[in-house]
Amino acid sequence: NVSIAPLVGKAGERIGRLILLDDISQRVRLEEQMVQTEKLTSLGLLAAGVAHEVNTPLAVISNYIQMLARQLPADDPRHQIIDKVVKQTFRASEIVNNLLNFSRTGAAEFTAVNLNSVVEETLSLVTHPFKTARVNVLKTLQTQLPPVLGSANRLQQVFLNLFMNARDAMPSGGMLEIRTACNNGYVEVEITDTGTGIPRENLHRIFDPFFTTKSTGRGTGLGLSVSYGIIKEHAGKIDVRSTPGKGTSFRLEFPVAGKAVNV
Ligand code: ADP
Repeated sequence: NVSIAPLVGKAGERIGRLILLDDISQRVRLEEQMVQTEKLTSLGLLAAGVAHEVNTPLAVISNYIQMLARQLPADDPRHQIIDKVVKQTFRASEIVNNLLNFSRTGAAEFTAVNLNSVVEETLSLVTHPFKTARVNVLKTLQTQLPPVLGSANRLQQVFLNLFMNARDAMPSGGMLEIRTACNNGYVEVEITDTGTGIPRENLHRIFDPFFTTKSTGRGTGLGLSVSYGIIKEHAGKIDVRSTPGKGTSFRLEFPVAGKAVNV
């Protein structure tokens, strides 16, 4: 922020200019965070309402179509169509569940969690998709990492989203590097891929609900906004750096359990 004012001498004559340079990056960042939080709160309320309403008819469709499937002879060609309906109802309920997760606040129980274990467990869930996509993993996990206060399940959801996004960004394979460390009372996790990267103009939109560059049916645009909500719930932070054509790095930070923090 630059302000310029005339510098006036005793006789009222102008003797120069007073130039004030104020670095307001921190304020701008805080304002951006507030806007993001407000957006998520109002969307959360809307999402919870819609998700509840949609869940019931969806469960009915899902039940009936599975009943219908059982009534058809095993070799009936209509099974193909029914399979498609079943698959799509599962997908729809996955989206609804994501929305519900997104709007849920404070329901999870927080305990001392070791982020190295959460990373390891999440990696075990993606072994198969990573193998198929030829994604290699390089782990640099700090031994004796102090615990953070949180919900292992929800944190696992965050890592799962980040890992699957990294896989999607490396269509012809690549390297996913995961690093954990502890610095100044914070546990850091850095997740770096060698994928396509994120264009500069998209960087500030990736945490927005429903922002996706993936084709319909593949992306919902909820992964990162849900993750953002979970990280905030844990008094944590997430930053992203990306170089198009080279890769992307997400850096997460959580306060060590037991340390006083200002949320
Ligand atoms: P979705 O994965 O359903 O699109 P997300 O909220 O998880 O929703 O991600 C939003 C968008 O952010 C993605 O569509 C993609 O454009 C971008 N993105 C997220 N992670 C990465 C990554 N590791 N590399 C490149 N782009 C990414």
